[in-house]
Amino acid sequence: MGDKVTLTAKGERWHRTRHPWVYRDDVKPADEALAGRVVRVESPSGRALGQAFFNPRSKIALRWLTDNPEEPVDRGFWASRLEAALDLRRRVVEDSSAFRLIYSEADGFPGLIVDRYGEVLVVQSLSMGIEQVLPILLDLLQEKLKPAAIVARNDSSVRALEGLPQEKKVLQGSVPEQLEIQEGQARFRVDVMQGHKTGLYLDQRENRIWAAGYARGRVLDAFAYQGGFSVHAAARAEEVLALEDSAAAVERVTENARLNGRAQVRAERANAFDRLRELERGGERFDLVILDPPAFAKNRTQLQDALRGYLEINLRALRLVKSGGILITCSCSYLVREELFAELLQRAAADSGRSVRLREVRLQARDHPILVTHPESRYLKCAALEVT
Ligand code: SAH
Repeated sequence: MGDKVTLTAKGERWHRTRHPWVYRDDVKPADEALAGRVVRVESPSGRALGQAFFNPRSKIALRWLTDNPEEPVDRGFWASRLEAALDLRRRVVEDSSAFRLIYSEADGFPGLIVDRYGEVLVVQSLSMGIEQVLPILLDLLQEKLKPAAIVARNDSSVRALEGLPQEKKVLQGSVPEQLEIQEGQARFRVDVMQGHKTGLYLDQRENRIWAAGYARGRVLDAFAYQGGFSVHAAARAEEVLALEDSAAAVERVTENARLNGRAQVRAERANAFDRLRELERGGERFDLVILDPPAFAKNRTQLQDALRGYLEINLRALRLVKSGGILITCSCSYLVREELFAELLQRAAADSGRSVRLREVRLQARDHPILVTHPESRYLKCAALEVT
């Protein structure tokens, strides 16, 4: 019947890994008119394997929805997936009004991100298939959560790969002028229209709260964005220096520090690479250094340069840590796999001439669940190193 796409033999083998994507080269030519539709997927011998979103214009031609070839992919289907996603967050999110409600493939919504900032929901629709069912999904979100506003942050470059236009707009309701969220003991202002990603880096929520446990004395937060780690750390530190190269974000660090009554946070507009070197030369030392850089490697061709970048900042940061102090170092580049991250820390430790012990290793917050057969959903690494 009608909406059907057939895998090649290689596609069928790949599908057995249960990776939720099938690449364009691994499906047989299909009707272009099916772009964005839910299709029934068959093996080369004609066996029905399940259903997926299809987009022949994307390198990722199929995004898996269900192994059941007969199940209707309708409002009820999405409603039960939404209920499951909400249920997970009820179990793993505490004391925070901002968190990820739906994390794409890992929640069974291929290409959909929904972040919650208090009363405001921010969606990113990153696949042609999900874009087609968005009206149903928005309706379900409205019905279940009754948000004050739903905003689309569809300004991600990923959309271009799917043949979708860039846009940023309020889809429903209105966004409060001063939107504030709670994260553990701290409060933050959020700009869901202009902020990075959907406003905040929610994947670091648990790590920010955890990192504060290591704070004391002097803290350096390089790559600070709006001061997430800084504000939490300031609860226990005497002095926090936040470095950030975006002027708008630097202003927000100060605002967030003030909002939390943390006058000991000082924000500086600086390129962290240069400033770390200057601080080291100037003999400055810190009890805790935090490195949370942006993804230096967005594709394979950037990987070598990215590794050099990570190595450099980690080396400099290790040298800035007082004896007995801690370096908390993160990488959100998916391509820098955990083994590679461990290796680069090993090299940085060797080059630093310091003795370095690994105290803890962490991943992204639990509201960004990891689908084990979808390694792309496991991307954030964060380690605490003790330096003597
Ligand atoms: N730790 C933050 C998120 C950091 S994201 C939080 O938890 O909210 C990385 C930040 O590094 C971005 O805000 C980006 O503007 C900034 N950045 C990128 N390159 C930089 C550089 N060379 N020096 C300083 N900051 C930089």
